[in-house]
Amino acid sequence: MGEFIGYRCSVCGKAYGPSEATYTCPADSGNLDVILDWEDIARRLRPADIAVSREESVWRYLPLLPVGEPGHDGTPLHAAGWTPLFAPPRLRQAAGLPQLWLKDDGRNPTASFKDRASAIVVARAQQIGAHTVVTASTGNAGAALAGMAAAAGQPAVILAPRTAPPAKVAQLLMFGARVFLVEGTYDQAFDLTLEAAQAFGWYCRNTGYNPFTSQGKKTAAFEIAEQFTTAVGKDPAGSGPWSVPDAVFVSVGDGNIISGLHAGFDDLLRLGWIERMPKLFGIQSEGSAAIYSAFVSGQETIVPVQATTMADSISVDLPRDGLRALRAATRTGGAYLAVPDSDILTAMTVLARAAAVFAEPAGATAYAGIAPALRGGLITPEDRVVVLNTGNGLKDVKAAMQAAGAATIIEPTLPALRKVVGNG
Ligand SMILES: *Cc1c(COP(=O)(O)O)cnc(C)c1O
Ligand SMILES: [Zn+2]
Repeated sequence: MGEFIGYRCSVCGKAYGPSEATYTCPADSGNLDVILDWEDIARRLRPADIAVSREESVWRYLPLLPVGEPGHDGTPLHAAGWTPLFAPPRLRQAAGLPQLWLKDDGRNPTASFKDRASAIVVARAQQIGAHTVVTASTGNAGAALAGMAAAAGQPAVILAPRTAPPAKVAQLLMFGARVFLVEGTYDQAFDLTLEAAQAFGWYCRNTGYNPFTSQGKKTAAFEIAEQFTTAVGKDPAGSGPWSVPDAVFVSVGDGNIISGLHAGFDDLLRLGWIERMPKLFGIQSEGSAAIYSAFVSGQETIVPVQATTMADSISVDLPRDGLRALRAATRTGGAYLAVPDSDILTAMTVLARAAAVFAEPAGATAYAGIAPALRGGLITPEDRVVVLNTGNGLKDVKAAMQAAGAATIIEPTLPALRKVVGNG
């Protein structure tokens, strides 16, 4: 592991030692960046040292992580991350982007990107000897925590809104977490979790609150760089730096995935392992667009909304990592876009039919941003673009049926079938 030397507040810039803070800045509640001893890492490590590793999970990047590897080899904890980067020809055609890649994080052990964060937080919980880990979740963060905690034998408590999709609630229960569905919103569950952690001495994983989630999420940036280098015909184990795409598209709710990606590319840039920063594009639903609105206003003030989107994983009133998420776009030359839910449903069918990737609504939202970005001249057809799918469509079958429509029901006879297929 890398040597963890402390935190820095993303709002006031104040530095804290490893034991001087646990969650957010004690002075102003700003999100804390985790600081590693980068000089030491740069001295000891080359990209090739990673690229020759046979580890195919987030633990591939252990020397760049602030936690030790949990000692439970051969469990799903060691299967989070290292998701495939596809180059789907028909999706490229559909998008009008000949150099588009699709990274499918729906293939994680509990079927969402959140496994990356939960694997690292569970490792941290074990490092500090926490007896119980708690999280608020719209579903995926909880499923990921419950799954990773089950792999490590770590007790977990999950608070989710009662409206969470049933498949996600089933995951929580199956993995043996203590599950409480609150009669309220994700934001209310979030606030209750903070109180509960304080009252019961639990370790809180909440997104945009626990600084270690971002450390897990940054592994996706490492993978994009390493896999993209291979995709453009270079050897990531060679002596040169890794390559990066021109742009990365990702959906945004609390903003912790995009800020984690930014942190990861930042780490690589600082180490000299990549030569430039890709532009980061955050895509929100029009029904949950607090960060998009701040981006458009040109201000760093994030005003909460009343979220209404059916993309439950990005349905957030007050983004908990809003400032860093905003900067992920403004400081990389990227942008925020907001798309209607109808475009998200369309994007689900296009990803499934042209790339064989079945995404949940929040996962497909990233792809829904491609068309408006091209129309608006934010990207060009010559750009090399990575789209990140963050969650598997089986997690929300109701939304999938809304996108795909219903199947035709027939009598079990050939004439009945002939009638509906016509001439085949
Ligand atoms: C959590 C989640 C997101 C959004 O991540 P934030 O860090 O909240 O911006 C997007 N897609 C899926 C599937 C998620 O579970
Ligand atoms: Zn601060």
